[in-house]
Amino acid sequence: MKYSNLVEVYQKLESTTKRLEKTFYLSEFLRIVNEKDIDKVILLIQGKIFPDWDQRVIGVASRILVKAINTATGASVDEIEKIWKKTGDLGDVAQKLCQKKSQSTLFSQELTVSKVFENIRKVAELEGQGTVANKIQLIAELLTSSSAVEAKYIIRIILGDLRVGLGEGTIRDAIVWAYLAEEKEFIYDKENNELIIPENNREKYNKLITTVQEAYDIANDFSVVAQLIKKSGLKGLENIELSPGKPIKVMLYQKAKNIEEAFETVGKPAAIEQKYDGFRMQIHKSNNKIIIFTRRLENVTNQFPDVVEFVKNSIDGNNFIIDGEAVGYDVKTEKYIAFQNISQRIRRKYDIHEVAEKFPVELNLFDIVFFNNKNLIKKPFIERRKILEKITKEKPKKIKLAEEIITEDIKEAEIFYKKSLDNGNEGIMIKNLQGIYKPGSRVGYGVKVKPTMETLEVVIVGAEWGEGKRSAWLSSFVIACKDPETNQFLEIGRVGTGIKEKEEEGVSFNQLTKLLKPLITEDKGREIIIKPEIVIEVNYEEIQKSPTYTSGFALRFPRLVKLREDRSPKEINTIEDVKKMYKDQRGRS
Ligand code: AMP
Repeated sequence: MKYSNLVEVYQKLESTTKRLEKTFYLSEFLRIVNEKDIDKVILLIQGKIFPDWDQRVIGVASRILVKAINTATGASVDEIEKIWKKTGDLGDVAQKLCQKKSQSTLFSQELTVSKVFENIRKVAELEGQGTVANKIQLIAELLTSSSAVEAKYIIRIILGDLRVGLGEGTIRDAIVWAYLAEEKEFIYDKENNELIIPENNREKYNKLITTVQEAYDIANDFSVVAQLIKKSGLKGLENIELSPGKPIKVMLYQKAKNIEEAFETVGKPAAIEQKYDGFRMQIHKSNNKIIIFTRRLENVTNQFPDVVEFVKNSIDGNNFIIDGEAVGYDVKTEKYIAFQNISQRIRRKYDIHEVAEKFPVELNLFDIVFFNNKNLIKKPFIERRKILEKITKEKPKKIKLAEEIITEDIKEAEIFYKKSLDNGNEGIMIKNLQGIYKPGSRVGYGVKVKPTMETLEVVIVGAEWGEGKRSAWLSSFVIACKDPETNQFLEIGRVGTGIKEKEEEGVSFNQLTKLLKPLITEDKGREIIIKPEIVIEVNYEEIQKSPTYTSGFALRFPRLVKLREDRSPKEINTIEDVKKMYKDQRGRS
């Protein structure tokens, strides 16, 4: 397939912001792509050479691109940099300069999708001495053979900045439109930008979308999904296999209001587990290597040498994919600590062993999806858990199974819930014993139950003017509790959510702005200070210790619940209340 065909699609995709129209262009194109090219096309259409989960990157510095443009077009480095400064976009620079190329070099060899893909991949894979010259050469080779607009997109792909506005959902739908749904089963009305699905086809259409999404949740790579479908239709998806080393989307859980509702959703009896407040780890073993992925499928193996060791030493098996939560604990007291205390370990690049010692984690395993070449996704949860129990040698404060009971008794569940909170956990998970492992989607196979926090009454002491369409309004509000001893107000966070743009829908930005404007005492540009008079009630997810605010605490995700015009600032919650609530949350006391 010619690269110019792909470029035409890039341009069409760029020409519209409408999702359905993009789906239409992409699906039309996918229909004409041959089997040999489909995987490359699907990656390139997203401006990628590797799927997201793959750690490899193209990794080319702009100065190498400048040299490549110089080699391909003959324009001097100075000239290139001058235009670059003006346009701010190296893709545009390449386009401009390639336009000037003489006709003799133009199309000296028509570019194919394969050629573009392979050269860029070679660039990414080059390592070591002398590679700079080789990289320049490989890129220049592409630019020499490309037209002006083709050059622009080559540069953008290499920079990892394609900007055609293509989301995952659009690719998924385009695959369905192109390969799975019959033309009469749905109609895209381009003129009105409307998707028309006759009533009797709706179920089938939705099922196709779900099936492709589910395949994607396992493969995490549309190039694999599209290739299998192109080859053997829906049947091809049966061949999607898990493979340790390649992450799958983690299973997610809905929230239940309380234990009763949880039982209703997942059935009785159910497995009840402590809900640890750390971070998710999907851990793979493949070819004697342990690899750790986060919930967002980032590879964090290097940041957690301690966890790698635990898994190596304590879990039997040649290959596997297991799921768990790493939770931090205090070195001295051995009590669990909140996630924020260990979150810094995720991005740490240096002194890794030192921080590992300072902020140790305990790995709590709760699921297994693959073991010794066997896919366990469709096995009931209770069986998966048994396998996990069999292969794990638990070690205190290092690696263990999530604490679990199996019960149908609400009282017993309540007692376990309380115990979990007393241990410093976030709540409990309640899981369907027969549930399969469902990557990605939130369905009734497991739910979480967490306490909702008491609301706080606080006063507004500051604000910030909004931006863009909110520039006439105050949009972010500094809130404070009271210190009765000194009669001061102590800041405890900033709230910007729960406030509406439209007056009819609740407390609006406009309403708050009107109330607060007369109370402004100091104007520091966008930031303003406000006389503490307006009391609001907020909820939040958690109270955290924080050096940012004068109270020493910060509300996590505060949200305005209501205006409390019935309250005076004298009556609001005190710093003592906050301290107590902080202690009481999750049984820290
Ligand atoms: P949330 O982040 O509130 O949606 O809650 C779901 C998260 O809780 C999961 O993604 C895990 O990271 C975490 N978690 C802690 N303990 C468990 C457990 N026993 N089973 C499943 N997830 C758990």
